[in-house]
Amino acid sequence: MSQQEIPYKIYLSEDEMPKYWYNMRADMKKKPAPLLNPQTLKPVTAEELEHVFCKELVKQELDNDTREIPIPQEILDFYKMYRPSPLTRAYCLEKKLNTPAKIYYKFEGNNTSGSHKLNSAIAQAYYAKNQGLKGVTTETGAGQWGTALSMACAYLGLDCHVYMVKVSYEQKPFRREVMRTYGAQVTPSPSETTNVGRQILKEHPGTGGSLGCAISEAVEDATTHEGYRYVLGSVLSQVLLHQSVIGLECKTAMDKYGIKPDVIIGCAGGGSNLGGLISPFMGEKLRGEKDYQFIAVEPASCPSLTRGVYAYDYCDTGRVCPLQKMYTLGSGFIPAPNHAGGLRYHGMSGVLSELYDQGLIEARSVVQTDVFEAAEAFARVEGILPAPESSHAIKVAMDEAIKCRETGEEKTILFGLTGTGYFDMYAYEKFNDGKMTDFIPSDEDLKKSFETLPKV
Ligand SMILES: *Cc1c(COP(=O)(O)O)cnc(C)c1O
Repeated sequence: MSQQEIPYKIYLSEDEMPKYWYNMRADMKKKPAPLLNPQTLKPVTAEELEHVFCKELVKQELDNDTREIPIPQEILDFYKMYRPSPLTRAYCLEKKLNTPAKIYYKFEGNNTSGSHKLNSAIAQAYYAKNQGLKGVTTETGAGQWGTALSMACAYLGLDCHVYMVKVSYEQKPFRREVMRTYGAQVTPSPSETTNVGRQILKEHPGTGGSLGCAISEAVEDATTHEGYRYVLGSVLSQVLLHQSVIGLECKTAMDKYGIKPDVIIGCAGGGSNLGGLISPFMGEKLRGEKDYQFIAVEPASCPSLTRGVYAYDYCDTGRVCPLQKMYTLGSGFIPAPNHAGGLRYHGMSGVLSELYDQGLIEARSVVQTDVFEAAEAFARVEGILPAPESSHAIKVAMDEAIKCRETGEEKTILFGLTGTGYFDMYAYEKFNDGKMTDFIPSDEDLKKSFETLPKV
């Protein structure tokens, strides 16, 4: 089909939506390293994990072999409320950039949580409900995951305890209210309600908190209350599995029009949207069927892939979660306070880390003023006000398209537009006022946080 015939938006019908999640690990020859028990440093067993996580999710977490996992009907029905998400041809952006490149983006911001996180939130809440649990606990940083989970829990009638990083709790009161509107109990972290929270407050009075610290509190809450389990919005392999729905929809839509992307770009915090978007394409690459270029984009202020080390590390400050082998800056790493653009987790998904280590994906880091510049350029021509996180991918997609203008190459570029930025207007304000600054940690800073790595 000629390019002219490709519509601005490619939608799928409900029938064309995926019925299975795709597990990339099944096609990896070298699998991600096993999770380790933080006490014994031996590979963690399903039984040990089941104290913290829901049973079915533990099974998915440890499953390196099943290629396709059926999506339960109730989750499919929930997906239909806000999916399939549109795949948009960015004709207006292409024109603006005067590039021969063809740019597509998959937009995941069409739901109240404003991001892709709902794709995994509903799955995790469903399995908790199915197990007969009363509720789930979690952490949230910027608030998208907490919002997504509270929506899913409200739908299924589950309690939802959210530990929200204190700086965000104070800076994003509207996020907090959305969660409470969906019935979640929201606690600023660190708090006085858990042992680990009290300990952290004693050591760092006045701290604004961190994701690693909020995770520890949420885990403690789950493991000390009957009928509760902990759920996590990124990093884990099960989350990448659920997010494969993004890539699967995308591939079906592109195949319908005979489009093959040359470059696939996504922002990377814990790696879930990128892992989901690339899944079916990476599957083809792993099986030697087709080739693609994959680019993970991360903030220069929190550069786990581009400057981190590939090692076993703690997932949380309180060191209660299993150890994961991943590209990491060390669990003691706390991004600079002027960092506005999300994606502030110290580590990266074990699956993506392994793919990166094998040279199957590339990574780039970008500074936040460049990210917001790209965000505004995009908003002005494509209409959507993007989340700062998503704008990392926009920035690199634009860079690639500009390169094509210079070389004359007609590459097809696909990127993940993970969400909207309506709750990030303080950051936009800072940028518009010219007050946003960039921060790049020195080698010295990183050396210090690498010292917090466990000796495994
Ligand atoms: C959480 C979030 C991200 C980053 O998380 P990943 O797990 O790396 O996908 C990116 N964009 C938005 C809008 C988010 O809410």
